Amino acid sequence: MKILVCLKQVPDTETKIKVAGDGKSLDPTDVKWITSPYDEYALEEGLRLKESAGAEVTVATVGDDKAKDVLRNAFALGADHAVLIKGDGQGDTLATASILAGFAKDKGFDLVLSGNKGLGGDNSAVGPMLAELLGYAQANVVVKLEITDGKFRAEREIEGGTEVVEGSLPAVVTAQKGLNEPRYASLKGIMAAKKKTIEETEVAGHAPATGTLAMTLPAARAEGRKLEGDAASQAKALMDALKNEAKVF
Ligand SMILES: Cc1cc2nc3c(=O)[nH]c(=O)nc-3n(C[C@H](O)[C@H](O)[C@H](O)COP(=O)(O)OP(=O)(O)OC[C@H]3O[C@@H](n4cnc5c(N)ncnc54)[C@H](O)[C@@H]3O)c2cc1C
Repeated sequence: MKILVCLKQVPDTETKIKVAGDGKSLDPTDVKWITSPYDEYALEEGLRLKESAGAEVTVATVGDDKAKDVLRNAFALGADHAVLIKGDGQGDTLATASILAGFAKDKGFDLVLSGNKGLGGDNSAVGPMLAELLGYAQANVVVKLEITDGKFRAEREIEGGTEVVEGSLPAVVTAQKGLNEPRYASLKGIMAAKKKTIEETEVAGHAPATGTLAMTLPAARAEGRKLEGDAASQAKALMDALKNEAKVF
């Protein structure tokens, strides 16, 4: 079985996000980049299928040179092949999905795994678009996956419950938190990853169908105030503030 795992590099959740001078993109200064957490579940699932069913795992990302870090990390975890699909700038979900589809279309992947959404972008669109462009079956927001005899059985998280779907491979499956517990890289894996070759390619895709007009940060919140004294006087001060300052009642 041949598996493609789509990895997106995203800013670390600890990063203090700044909007760039153009008012519509992220200022990359001081940003630490990581693999989108949902993609970690996708990769772990691929690696488990490698171990249980002898699958071959290829990871790919559309991005610039700094995205090589997420590919190197995937090598350290156990991926067999890593591909940087070069793009210098930002594209939208359709552009990204079409580039990934162009890359994958003749390579005979039985299963494509991606995150259900890329942290920060949050479009939840690339996986389903990729399935449509490739003409593959799809199951999204998956928390359990079984592959047997060319078929998949997936449990999907839906509002208030779980839906179980099945279909035939090839398929695109997008991972949700809970699908598995991603592993950590071992020191041996990290050292071995340094010697592996990241392939680089360029694939023509759809022109972006959308463009970002503006990006803004949430309005700054007023500083909090610490109420002093014992519990009774704190409660009284809180009631005073709610009544006379916030005018809640
Ligand atoms: C020409 C071009 C250049 C780009 N350059 C960069 C770049 O330098 N840095 C950067 O971070 N992004 C780059 N992108 C990616 C683009 O910014 C995002 O794909 C897009 O904004 C959608 O992100 P999302 O997280 O909202 O998508 P979602 O639909 O929420 O993502 C869902 C899943 O799709 C997969 N996915 C999403 N984006 C990618 C990707 N880029 N590569 C592989 N799998 C992906 C992941 O598995 C992800 O979990 C580029 C795209 C194009 C077309």
